Amino acid sequence: DKDKGGVSISFYEPGMEEAAKRRAMIESELRSALIDERVEPYFQPIIDLETGEVIGFEALARCRASDGSLLMPDEFIPIAEQSGLISRLFLQVLKKGCLVLRHKPPHMTMAINLSSLQLSDDWLAEQILAILTETGVAPGRLEVEITETALVANFEAAHAMVTKLKRQGIRISLDDFGTGYSSLRHLSELPFDKLKIDKSFVARLGNDEASDTIVRTVTTLAHNLGLKVTAEGIEDDAHVSFLQGIGCEYGQGFLYGRPAEASRRRVTEDAANED
Ligand code: C2E
Ligand code: CA
Ligand code: CA
Ligand code: CA
Repeated sequence: DKDKGGVSISFYEPGMEEAAKRRAMIESELRSALIDERVEPYFQPIIDLETGEVIGFEALARCRASDGSLLMPDEFIPIAEQSGLISRLFLQVLKKGCLVLRHKPPHMTMAINLSSLQLSDDWLAEQILAILTETGVAPGRLEVEITETALVANFEAAHAMVTKLKRQGIRISLDDFGTGYSSLRHLSELPFDKLKIDKSFVARLGNDEASDTIVRTVTTLAHNLGLKVTAEGIEDDAHVSFLQGIGCEYGQGFLYGRPAEASRRRVTEDAANED
């Protein structure tokens, strides 16, 4: 069962008690993984849709459980948030991500996901900068992703955080766009660099007139606000042609590559060289 990835308990029934047990198990796995540095980024390429070149990566958290199985973020991120571990998790993913990014060509960027709970973390900007300095990564190569839902739920905190990070030269993307209910005011008052169209709309391109219209309209709106657009969840060539046709700049999805472990060699060498 180890190899199935994502599920480390084989026999559990979806009862309340079982769910509570699994939750407790994940929390304890997460705590020990943070101590042993078994929380790590998987990297998914982001492509320039015009040239087909890789312009960077999104770092997506994975947690290696003590039995070797891989826990997935849809399950452990909410638990990390509820148990006060989200900030440590973020910093561990950021640090490991930067150790990989610094060996990539300097034009490449790394995107990383921020939890809504981190928007009011007064230390976050300093902690990010310390890691960038320590790993030698220029702030302009880091892109912090904030979901539309988090933005709407905490507009004032998001405003303050985005302003602070932008002042340091870090880029900001508005993630999962189309799933929240942001207004033009939300969009125009914050200095975002990019807008990421949620994969649920991209998945329906071509079979659903409404999705085509939404994706086209959102792209135009973003361009009018001076933002670049990334479409996530690109799975086939038809998606690509449609997105190229409407001038969407960047794309990400299984068509180009699934999130994958960075090759461990460079990182391990670094760790050895640093001591
Ligand atoms: P997200 O930020 O929207 O990340 C994109 C998710 O879509 C990833 O799932 C990725 O594997 C998946 N995906 C990419 N391309 C395709 C595609 O073509 N088709 C389909 N069906 N899916 C695709 P993943 O890695 O399981 O992450 C799920 C969510 O967990 C992320 O959604 C993000 O909200 C959250 N997450 C991941 N890492 C972190 C983290 O370090 N911190 C925080 N706060 N949240 C994280
Ligand atoms: Ca994201
Ligand atoms: Ca997303
Ligand atoms: Ca998502």
